[in-house]
Amino acid sequence: MSQFEIIDPAFGRYVLGNAPVKQIATGFDSVEGPVWFGDAGCLLFSDIPSDRILRWTPGQGVSVYRTPSNYANGHTRDRQGRLISCEHGLRRVTRTEHDGSITVIADAFGGKRLNSPNDVAVKSDGTIWFTDPHYGIANNYEGFAADEENPCVVYRLDPRAGSLAVVADEMNCPNGLAFSPDESLLYVADTGRMHSDDPQLIKVFNCATDGKLTGGRHFHTIAPGCADGIRVDSDGNLWSSAADGVHCIAPDGHLMGKILVPEPVSNLCFGGRARHELYFTATTSVYRVTLNRNGVQFP
Ligand code: MG
Repeated sequence: MSQFEIIDPAFGRYVLGNAPVKQIATGFDSVEGPVWFGDAGCLLFSDIPSDRILRWTPGQGVSVYRTPSNYANGHTRDRQGRLISCEHGLRRVTRTEHDGSITVIADAFGGKRLNSPNDVAVKSDGTIWFTDPHYGIANNYEGFAADEENPCVVYRLDPRAGSLAVVADEMNCPNGLAFSPDESLLYVADTGRMHSDDPQLIKVFNCATDGKLTGGRHFHTIAPGCADGIRVDSDGNLWSSAADGVHCIAPDGHLMGKILVPEPVSNLCFGGRARHELYFTATTSVYRVTLNRNGVQFP
């Protein structure tokens, strides 16, 4: 079976027939949140149930970056290169400073605790956008079971002003998020509440320079499975997790093709020296494939 499924012939130019879809690490419980550190030559990712952030280094393999990780899920880097992490366990978003110390940048809204920050993206103006669904407090598997104190929404944090604002409250359970290359659009996956019949879809919003979101609308519905993590390449194509691998969706919303793996994919990121390698976490394993395509400069 081919490791690629080409639906739109244009997708054939995005993949390389002699580049393997390679399992680079396995044996985990439930991995998510890959983030590439080109300066350190490694990939960080979360194994949420085992309460660890792990590091994969080419030629060396896997080592522990941080444990306990407070059941960290999604990560990204800010424009100073610092690690930004969503922690289920302490229901907060943190920044790891260059000296290794950890700064809490959000843990409450309106005097009530966040639910379980899930995924995060940083805009070029330094604002930090994250989703806060209930998954990490819905049971004791990937955090600590607890009551929800705030609705499941998307937040925009301005670390300079110290302000936290709700920017989208019309989804059941927002999950992965990513900006278009010019940041005029924000894509947000809505994976619905656990044990519900909520629709699972990717929405897209117009994103104004002042941070306001308007015009939320359906962009694409992933099948099989659903979109958890999403990333955008330099041409504006959206790459999404799915139950059968990674799907590539054109800016007009049509499915162009798939990268197929035998495990459901959770999250993904671009990495490598030209951001031409796609790393993705899939339940028990981490995979990598080299593409003829580059991720946006800042994830
Ligand atoms: Mg997620």
